[in-house]
Amino acid sequence: MRNELSEVFKPAVGQPDYPAQEALHASKSPETAWNLSRSFFGNTLTAHLPGMFVVNGRRGGYRAVSITGNHCELQCDHCKGALLKSMDHAPDGASLRKIGLDAYARGDRGILISGGLRRSRQASVA
Ligand code: SF4
Repeated sequence: MRNELSEVFKPAVGQPDYPAQEALHASKSPETAWNLSRSFFGNTLTAHLPGMFVVNGRRGGYRAVSITGNHCELQCDHCKGALLKSMDHAPDGASLRKIGLDAYARGDRGILISGGLRRSRQASVA
């Protein structure tokens, strides 16, 4: 279990190592989770704007690209595939390459490669 959680809770660059066992405990108690998060990350909330949205004239530096188009077999209750509709679609390597080159030419910082999932919770990569 510890190894699985260590994989999930890898620290971001510059962040302290997140203790896997405490994270497991925190997942069972909102108060513990709140206190653990404050002890590691303080009271500062850093939010990142996804690249496919524009807010107050600003767009994030990583536009999302769906390699499955609008298709998602999983259809989670909170999304039902709606997230994919806001993304550029790259059904093959050539279109993904073009989107990457266009992003580079625009001065974007990169692209976020995403897509829908199969019922098995695996991604389909062509
Ligand atoms: S797997 Fe992702 S894209 Fe598919 S419905 Fe769930 S949140 Fe949306």
